[in-house]
Amino acid sequence: MESKRPNILVTGTPGTGKTTLCELLAQTYQLNYVHVGTVIKENRFVAFNEELQCDELDEDALLDHLEVIMNQGGNVVEHHESDLFPLRWFSLVVVLRADNTVLYDRLQQRGYPLAKIQENCSAEICRLSADMAKENYPEGVVLEMSNDSLEQLQANCRQIGAWMEAHHQ
Ligand code: ADP
Ligand code: MN
Repeated sequence: MESKRPNILVTGTPGTGKTTLCELLAQTYQLNYVHVGTVIKENRFVAFNEELQCDELDEDALLDHLEVIMNQGGNVVEHHESDLFPLRWFSLVVVLRADNTVLYDRLQQRGYPLAKIQENCSAEICRLSADMAKENYPEGVVLEMSNDSLEQLQANCRQIGAWMEAHHQ
């Protein structure tokens, strides 16, 4: 039986370049791109919490939906958090990192309000995404990558391609 292609999770603070890298990876290596935020929205995987009076992610529904897709292998998955998914789904977890002034400019260009820019920049300084991934996944699975420039974007794409070749022939 042909072995399944690996699933790769791409995580990181908003603005670090997840979508850009995922699209490049999908195109270069014929992977299926899954943007978890879009999956949640399109399938309305939110449930109203009466007690807290707010919308809450319906985690079970999301995970059931994704399980079928992950079982097929060959997915590159974008999400800003990494503690939501079963560990067995991913053979590689990429954490994108960006220099703080670079990130600030990208979020400003995106039209984020100042408070949201500052919140994300301090999350990046505090390594929230990187530490979340490293706390959850075994050593060797998590790869942290600087993604400040187009040169680094290309290098990251190549490095992930090389990883796939080495690990899943
Ligand atoms: P995320 O999905 O993590 O929020 P995006 O992929 O949407 O990030 O990228 C945020 C912005 O930064 C976009 O304007 C994108 O074009 C730019 N960008 C992403 N990666 C790079 C890179 N390596 N070099 C330069 N600009 C980048
Ligand atoms: Mn994105």
